[in-house]
Amino acid sequence: MARYGLLIDYEYCTGCHTCEVACQFEHNLPVGQWGIKISKVGPWKFDNKWQYAHVPIPTEQCNLCGERVAAGKQPTCVQHCQAKVMKFGLVEELVKEMEGKSHMVLFAPK
Ligand code: SF4
Ligand code: SF4
Repeated sequence: MARYGLLIDYEYCTGCHTCEVACQFEHNLPVGQWGIKISKVGPWKFDNKWQYAHVPIPTEQCNLCGERVAAGKQPTCVQHCQAKVMKFGLVEELVKEMEGKSHMVLFAPK
C-alpha cells in the first residue's frame, strides 16, 4: 500500500510558527494542542560551530491533511510555509530527496 509522509528541510526553517497555526486552525484543535510543533535548538557552541535551529515536529494529531489531499490540495502546513521547507509525497520519493542532505525530518506515519 502506498505510504505518504512529510519531508521537512529544517535547515531553512525560520521558526515563524505559521505551520503550527495553519494546522491548528484547519483541524480546529484546542488551545495548547498541535498537529505540528516547532522545537527550538540552541543557541550553544559545539565543536566551534553554533547549534541553532528550529525543527518542526508533527504530532500524533497530524493526519497528513487527508481531506485536503483527497480534494487535490496540499497539506495546509506545506501550503502556508513561506520558506517552502516542507514537502508532502510518497515516502519512497521523499527518501530519495534526502540524499546528500543532513538537516531533514521525515514524518511517515503508518
Ligand atoms: S500535514 Fe496537515 S495535519 Fe499534518 S502537520 Fe501539516 S497541517 Fe497539520
Ligand atoms: S511555516 Fe515553515 S518556516 Fe515557518 S516554522 Fe513552519 S516549517 Fe518553519
